[in-house]
Amino acid sequence: MQLTEKLTINTPSSVQVITPDWVNNKIQLSIKRDDQIHSIISGNKWRKLHYTLDQAVTQKTKHIVSFGGGFSNHLHALGYCCHQLNIQFTAIVRGDYSKNLSPMLQDLLDWKTDVQYVDRVTYKKRTNIEYIQQLQKQYPHALLIPEGGSQQQALHGVANIITELPQTYDYIIAPVASGGTLAGLIKGVSTYSPTTQVLGIGVLKGQGYLEELVASLLPNSQAFNNWHINHDFHFGGYAKSTTELNEFCGDFLKQTHIPIEPVYSGKLIFALKRLIFEEFFPANAKVLILHTGGLQGARS
Ligand SMILES: *Cc1c(COP(=O)(O)O)cnc(C)c1O
Repeated sequence: MQLTEKLTINTPSSVQVITPDWVNNKIQLSIKRDDQIHSIISGNKWRKLHYTLDQAVTQKTKHIVSFGGGFSNHLHALGYCCHQLNIQFTAIVRGDYSKNLSPMLQDLLDWKTDVQYVDRVTYKKRTNIEYIQQLQKQYPHALLIPEGGSQQQALHGVANIITELPQTYDYIIAPVASGGTLAGLIKGVSTYSPTTQVLGIGVLKGQGYLEELVASLLPNSQAFNNWHINHDFHFGGYAKSTTELNEFCGDFLKQTHIPIEPVYSGKLIFALKRLIFEEFFPANAKVLILHTGGLQGARS
């Protein structure tokens, strides 16, 4: 069975030139619409899961286990894929939402996911070797996938984004949470577009920590000097927002007809607006926004 027979993925995603009123004519701004590659599977989550799911299908994997929060785009994408591929899925969720299901969790239950709520202390152990071994013992036939799908194997799928680009860009900018997307972009540009700089916008308080996460995913990380993470636009932490940010998302939709949400792409594009204002980019820079999707997480 081919993966793509069960999941209709619209790649390559399109690239659009956009001109919101805060872009001056010194910048050429484009956006790659990975939010449009599937109606349910969030853009960058597909990129990260692509080859892992390919392998799961080839190896006839019967069960997958992964981790995430109550609104996780990763659990949502993976839950849907597992449902379509007839693979049992166990989602280990941070916090007990059983009496107050999010739309994401309701979808998972509709897709027959085995949802396991754990407390924050247990959830913190999600990368701890003994905890992983214990889970592997509990689910002996399961493939365990880390939070956000961010693992070595994810990089190849994300790097494919670069092979789809119609031209060379000076900067590609993307949000950073668990680091897999940025690591894949860094690897992709170093292979396919070595003059491009990758600029990450941290969406949570993670100065130092996010750089370590990204570096830990890159083989021979010192070899890459084509990237940087800006930490000035997390708005107080993961999923924290302000009226200004929410209004910015609405205004961007009105101006460009492209939907964004405040957890990832809202912070990303808000940061971009500020950086353009501060003349961070050299004159005539070609800047590409990666729209990573994530609109399901904004339902409530
Ligand atoms: C998960 C997610 C990100 C963050 O990607 P990481 O690889 O975890 O850094 C960005 N945007 C959206 C929409 C996401 O769902």
